[in-house]
Amino acid sequence: MMSSNYPPGVTGNEYEIAGPDMESEDNRYCDKCDKKTDHYIEGYRGAVTIQCQECGDESDISDEYDGDPDKAMEDKKELDLWVQERGY
Ligand SMILES: [Zn+2]
Repeated sequence: MMSSNYPPGVTGNEYEIAGPDMESEDNRYCDKCDKKTDHYIEGYRGAVTIQCQECGDESDISDEYDGDPDKAMEDKKELDLWVQERGY
């Protein structure tokens, strides 16, 4: 019995099918525009790229997110909890 409509070798998790893991927008400083502009942020498989919506300049900010943004949020929660438990 066929469990998927995708051709062999395609899992359905491919970028073209599943899309980015994370999409966001942020107002950031752009080196090329030399001012703060709206940026489009896209995360996929731990790689996070940011694109200036004015000049289209793209850069990799994976380091900022340290891989998985969801995981980063979890870590933050755990840290908050830990700080709470310590009482300071
Ligand atoms: Zn720009």
